[in-house]
Amino acid sequence: MSLRPDCLCNDCLAGFVGIVDSNGVIACPQCGGESCDCEGCQLTLHRLRAGERDRKALGLRYPGNEVTNWTEVEGCMPLRQGAES
Ligand SMILES: [Zn+2]
Ligand SMILES: [Zn+2]
Repeated sequence: MSLRPDCLCNDCLAGFVGIVDSNGVIACPQCGGESCDCEGCQLTLHRLRAGERDRKALGLRYPGNEVTNWTEVEGCMPLRQGAES
């Protein structure tokens, strides 16, 4: 088990110190999504920290909602609001 600083969740965009499990997977502590600490993801995280919120500028691969209300601890989870009211 090893620790990786500056992991980025590819689902909710939370940034955190990740723990690599026995399968080599880093799970997001916020949403359980797959996370990554490759150069590209670290760059995205650094841009988020610097205040960048444009999906293209951030280099996000998948289409999705706007990056709003991002915080490093909680990321942003616009796709998981769930409950229909
Ligand atoms: Zn996540
Ligand atoms: Zn990556």
